[in-house]
Amino acid sequence: MDLGIKGRWALVCASSKGLGLGCAASLAAEGVNLVMNARGEPLLNEEAKRLAAEYGVTVHAVAGDITTEAIRQKALAAAPQIDILINNAGGPPPGDFRNFSRDDWIKAVDANMLTPIELIKATLDGMIARQFGRVVNITSSAVKAPIDVLALSNGARSGLTGFIAGLSRKTALHNVTINNLLPGMFDTDRLRGTIKAAAAQMGVSEDEAAKRRMAGVPAGRFGNAHEFGQACAYLCSAQASYVTGQNFLIDGGAFPGTF
Ligand code: NAP
Repeated sequence: MDLGIKGRWALVCASSKGLGLGCAASLAAEGVNLVMNARGEPLLNEEAKRLAAEYGVTVHAVAGDITTEAIRQKALAAAPQIDILINNAGGPPPGDFRNFSRDDWIKAVDANMLTPIELIKATLDGMIARQFGRVVNITSSAVKAPIDVLALSNGARSGLTGFIAGLSRKTALHNVTINNLLPGMFDTDRLRGTIKAAAAQMGVSEDEAAKRRMAGVPAGRFGNAHEFGQACAYLCSAQASYVTGQNFLIDGGAFPGTF
């Protein structure tokens, strides 16, 4: 199916690997030109070159921390306009909430709530004026089913989710949609890192720790970045103009509820 977005411009934040890269690749495959971003420059440049060559689209790489105003401005200025915005950043660290300082909370809220809001603020009116816009926020299944050790993530991402619920109803009239994608367990560096920490804590091998996590997933496996990217591309498609304000859980069936 042609998603009807060939030639559009997307800013995909935090996209040198993992879920962000999956989204960037799926959009590039649809003919979307990209601004890609991550802090580490060598890998970012390598992936930007690869996607440009593989899909024949224009890709600009903007290296730096997307939670800073300077890098956000640089990323926004790298495209003639932003038609599609994929908000993403590293997730906050796990831990007991008693050990988190005010600064830890501010960092988490900055990365997982305020940075997306700033980028939406900078791009929304242009999207409305052009009568086309798609915003997808990568959040987490922790928004729907909080994970006790991820207090920072539970809190900060829920704040973004509440904000989006209100805003997304105000933009749909202009063919500008805003949705959230909630990953369950996806096989990325981030997940491997948490499995490694869990394995050390439980005194088992990483393979064993991974198996125990997978046991809670009806699909019997972790998700992969490609299938996550495909869902993102659909939400950015011309065909998805009637879908807004939604929270899409992609978790292999791990959440046990009816809704
Ligand atoms: P990942 O594989 O570790 O990739 C993270 C990407 O973000 C990298 O490209 C990284 O590059 C970039 N990045 C991190 N912080 C950044 C910043 N401040 N500014 C710019 N780029 C930044 O992680 P992932 O698994 O794709 O996770 C993406 C998001 O989904 C995270 O917020 C994570 O918490 C959330 N999530 C993931 C899962 C999962 O199972 N994987 C589940 C639920 C939620 P640099 O390090 O070079 O900047």
